[in-house]
Amino acid sequence: MSILPQQKNLFKSPYQHANKNYQIIHIIRTQVRCTATPVKPNLGPTRLVVKPSSTPPTPAQVPITPKGPRPDDPALKSTWGHRAWLASGCTTLLVSLAKCVAASTDSHIWAKPILSGLVGYILADLGSGVYHWGIDNYGDATTPLFGGQIDAFQGHHKWPWTITKRQFANNLHALARIITFTVLPINLVLNDPILLAFVGSFSGCIMFSQQFHAWSHSTKSKLPPIVVTLQDSGVLVSRLEHANHHRSPYNSNYCIVSGIWNKFLDENKILEALEMVIFFQLGVRPRSWSEPSLEWTEETSIPSSLPQ
Ligand SMILES: [Zn+2]
Ligand SMILES: [Zn+2]
Repeated sequence: MSILPQQKNLFKSPYQHANKNYQIIHIIRTQVRCTATPVKPNLGPTRLVVKPSSTPPTPAQVPITPKGPRPDDPALKSTWGHRAWLASGCTTLLVSLAKCVAASTDSHIWAKPILSGLVGYILADLGSGVYHWGIDNYGDATTPLFGGQIDAFQGHHKWPWTITKRQFANNLHALARIITFTVLPINLVLNDPILLAFVGSFSGCIMFSQQFHAWSHSTKSKLPPIVVTLQDSGVLVSRLEHANHHRSPYNSNYCIVSGIWNKFLDENKILEALEMVIFFQLGVRPRSWSEPSLEWTEETSIPSSLPQ
């Protein structure tokens, strides 16, 4: 067996006085050390992949904190201010209805206003979904105009059961105030029965959507039978459908009037497409792209409100 020149040089190391076997081991060790230089694998360009978790967080992942309102917390009670806004919202809806009936009587048309009211009810569900998606995903408590609603909905995701303990005016006053400011001026200038029917129906469903939402968090045994019937027939958002909104990955079933748009929006990923448009145009990530965090997950130290 011939020995290459470089191998001959290795034999002239300081270990030359030792036996031949030791020298061979030294050569092998030297060669191994030389060829074991770490090479960083080329993994291609670094990409940030945002993937919502498809599995609910384990109890170990969700820190349990003893926060959250008590069922008898004063924050869940109605104040006279809440009742006043609810009264003004209801008055606004009654003005729509009264003017619609008067205009229909004058013009002797009834079918079109009724149809228009039905369209208002259907589109109110879509409106409730888009609005709910917006305040669930963007902004925070400091956002102008919507900060209070955003904060309330984030609190709702932590403690969904509180909505069933809120008193009626407490739950509806924020939307009643918006309806008063936006719909009352419209009522004053509108005289068309078809438009009045649409505006009254749409705004009425939006204002009461928080009550439909509260019912969707109640257990069947605590609801009036008529409400259960309306939920089961799809007239009002169902308890099971809305329960899925409160489960990971927290990006579906946003509609809370009848829920009829939920399937269409979720299966066609309409809102996810909107999130992509907003991200690429404005660089703003929706909250639902984050891994489950305290902002989204229900605290488990208090009774679950998921329906039975
Ligand atoms: Zn939500
Ligand atoms: Zn809810």
